[in-house]
Amino acid sequence: MNIIQAKKLTHDYRKVGDDGETETSCRALDNVDLDVAPGQFIAILGHNGSGKSTLAKHLNAILTPTDGTVWVDGMDTRDAEKLNAIRQTAGMVFQNPDNQIIGTVVDEDVAFGPENMGIPTEEILERVENSLKTVGMWEYRDRSPNRLSGGQKQRVAIAGVMAMEPKCIVLDEPTAMLDPVGRREVIRAAQKLNREKQVTILLITHYMEEVTEADRVIVMDQGKILMQGTPREVFSRVEELKEHRLDVPQVTMLAHELRKSGLPVPEGVLTVQELAESLIAASRRAV
Ligand code: ADP
Ligand code: MG
Repeated sequence: MNIIQAKKLTHDYRKVGDDGETETSCRALDNVDLDVAPGQFIAILGHNGSGKSTLAKHLNAILTPTDGTVWVDGMDTRDAEKLNAIRQTAGMVFQNPDNQIIGTVVDEDVAFGPENMGIPTEEILERVENSLKTVGMWEYRDRSPNRLSGGQKQRVAIAGVMAMEPKCIVLDEPTAMLDPVGRREVIRAAQKLNREKQVTILLITHYMEEVTEADRVIVMDQGKILMQGTPREVFSRVEELKEHRLDVPQVTMLAHELRKSGLPVPEGVLTVQELAESLIAASRRAV
């Protein structure tokens, strides 16, 4: 069974005009079909306003569909009785770590979720240790979150979600407010959670470099899924992405330009290493 499944998911935001009467609606998601198998690492890309956050909010029933259906681990998000179970299955990490940290000490903060779930103390201690170690923040357990860097705070937020042992974690631009070092730390933590604990990850980001290792990349545009596939498949479609004013990783763009000028470089290059190897091979052939 899919951990996440959406069928013809449509979401309209209703807005009441300044006169307090006229009502307009804005279609944020338009007939989106999505299926995610357990253990996958999915990256979601797209412009501002393309519907990414709206989609994320459907995955833990913060929003419910205007039309269509979303199932989280088989539970229909419209089923009010399943709300708690859904939120425990799909945890969320948002952009701003300051809005997500409540504890005054790091380990207290991470314990907060499982405490609310009524988990026995001994197990909470175990989960807190486990989670903080996974995100590389165990040495900071006695610190005040206020004194941490943005990347460290975000990793504590991830540990807090992880301590509730969700099967799936949705991260909505978790690195948008971080410097490059913080960004790398957070992405590594998410990758580790995926690889070592088999947690399904949906990562929303606009940093292309963060998605090259995903199992699947989904590109959203105007409330629809514009394309999806492996990073190589998606980033092979440079011209199409450019038409939609979407970026590709720098090295992919460089390889694409070299290829256009006649060099034997494959389409969809994802790493500097790959590009270097194909150029070296080409120059050897030329000698
Ligand atoms: P993204 O996360 O990709 O930037 P969003 O899901 O936030 O996109 O927004 C999709 C569309 O829905 C945008 O046009 C946005 O203006 C609109 N929208 C988002 N949130 C609301 C809201 N609370 N009320 C009305 N419109 C909204
Ligand atoms: Mg957003």
